[in-house]
Amino acid sequence: MKYRLMDLLICPMCRHFPLVLHVFETREIEQTSKSKKCEIYCGYEASRIDELINEPDCEECWKKEIVTGLLSCGECGRWYPIQDEIPRMLPDNMRDKNRDSQFLTTWKARIPDKILAEGRPFNLSGRLD
Ligand SMILES: [Zn+2]
Ligand SMILES: [Zn+2]
Repeated sequence: MKYRLMDLLICPMCRHFPLVLHVFETREIEQTSKSKKCEIYCGYEASRIDELINEPDCEECWKKEIVTGLLSCGECGRWYPIQDEIPRMLPDNMRDKNRDSQFLTTWKARIPDKILAEGRPFNLSGRLD
């Protein structure tokens, strides 16, 4: 997914916006010709536009593809994996516990402790050293 998407994504469970982005792997892509700038929240700057001193050019928001990462919701404590460039924004009842736990284990070193211990709907509490 592109950083640009952070301007649009909301938590599917509690509708909170914006989400917090944690980036693990990225790749550069050809920039599309007429790129729209982020309007409310800039993912690359990790800030609301009205809280930035200078208006961002948002070039990186289109140029960088996030291959692997994680999105977290500051409101309900849920987290969503970004895998193979796709943010998997599934409601709780459609998530696969084994698959999600595997993701947390694989990227443990890059994921904030709070998510590992208390993240919803799944976390690694009880499995951490
Ligand atoms: Zn932007
Ligand atoms: Zn939420």
